[in-house]
Amino acid sequence: MPSPFLTPGACSAPDSLAMLHIRRDQTIPTILRTHDDENLGYKEGKVANTRFGSFPHTTLLGQPWGSQIAASKVDTGSRGRKPQNPAKRKAEELDASGTTTGDDDTPSVKTPVTAASGFLHMMYPTPESWTYSLPHRTQVVYTPDYSYILHRLRVRPGSTIIEAGAGSGSFTHASVRAVFSGYPSEEQPTTKKRRLGKVCSFEFHEQRAGKVREEISEHGLDGLVEVTHRDVYEDGFLLGDPKTGKSPKANAIFLDLPAPWLALPHLVRKPASGAESPLDPASTAFICTFSPCLEQAERTIRMMRKLSWLNISMVEVQHNRIDVKRDRVGLDAEGVRGATVYPTTVEEAAHKLWADEERAKRIRLNLPDKTADPEDAEALKEDIKAPAKYLVEKSTEPAYKLGRLVHRPEPELKTHTSYLVFAILPRDWSEEEEQKCRQQWPSAK
Ligand code: SAM
Repeated sequence: MPSPFLTPGACSAPDSLAMLHIRRDQTIPTILRTHDDENLGYKEGKVANTRFGSFPHTTLLGQPWGSQIAASKVDTGSRGRKPQNPAKRKAEELDASGTTTGDDDTPSVKTPVTAASGFLHMMYPTPESWTYSLPHRTQVVYTPDYSYILHRLRVRPGSTIIEAGAGSGSFTHASVRAVFSGYPSEEQPTTKKRRLGKVCSFEFHEQRAGKVREEISEHGLDGLVEVTHRDVYEDGFLLGDPKTGKSPKANAIFLDLPAPWLALPHLVRKPASGAESPLDPASTAFICTFSPCLEQAERTIRMMRKLSWLNISMVEVQHNRIDVKRDRVGLDAEGVRGATVYPTTVEEAAHKLWADEERAKRIRLNLPDKTADPEDAEALKEDIKAPAKYLVEKSTEPAYKLGRLVHRPEPELKTHTSYLVFAILPRDWSEEEEQKCRQQWPSAK
């Protein structure tokens, strides 16, 4: 099954992940199921119950992505009710968005309802929407950080990236999209020229490793992501057996661990243990570690220097969303905020507020400012009683052009800021290769 994260196609498909976008910053991820499933307790498929109405999955299936879907006129009889069956309850928990509106998977019961219903938009999943809506089991790496990290790690289609720990799988989804260069297939095996991108993910918490593996499979990403349950401080990054396993031949590494310096001794060209290196011998390795405090970053840097990593640098991503809008209050006749005169009495304050509003209204209607003159102000009060329609018809300026442009940063940042330490390890180079190179380019010094 192709992954909806990578090749979503035109329409939603059964047993595939869809994002039920309810409103800004509220999205419910759900696997669309419209068939019987004795194990999960579905009789006529799942129903997404939200505060904006019920959405049987039968109404969501086969719809072009981006469609607006109206809530069902048929009551599922299940709004606000928890499924009694433990398997069904588990399925609900796994699907829940972490918001108060869950995705209830009770079967439809065809009874008419009277309650007014809303709508939702059905979107295909992206790493960004997954990061926003995934069930949090740990702190996660957010989009502003991972987009910068993947760029600095030079991750591209065909790259192999090592990630530890997998945590909630937020970074995993972003990195698999970055490395994707096609699905594994028997007809087109991987060759030196056709390198399939891969994410090798390590996690030492057993349940978390299991859950990420399950999600990867449900999201159609098998073969592109390999999740290993492992303590990487002890056992390093080989695939399969920690000592004799296969090297992932990685060219990028991302460590989101409490003590990255303990994992670094495994990320060298010739590990002291005698095991194979997990790095690609034919390419430079790019690394990034993600640590919330400076002392951790310093320890990591010290270890990197000891292990011959180069170009070490540290960055903190301070991402901020800025609201930009027109401020219509306190404008003078030209639409410019004049010198501030602070009112001293309640009456003055009330008058100022009224005058400001009137002035803004008159600017919108392209009328001369009358609020300054008391006589005109009286006349203006009469004007303002005119029907709204008349005023609107006189308006010449579009609303977006009115008022002074102001910007405000959002008060809370939805990102877990950390110190990002970047470094590179040059490719393996032997005396033999040096000689070969000198023969090929004799002029090279
Ligand atoms: N980057 C992840 C994401 O975006 O969802 C979040 C990672 S979370 C902050 C850190 C994870 O590292 C935890 O799940 C923890 O279990 C795992 N971890 C800690 N020590 C580890 C070790 N020695 N080996 C492997 N994983 C480890």
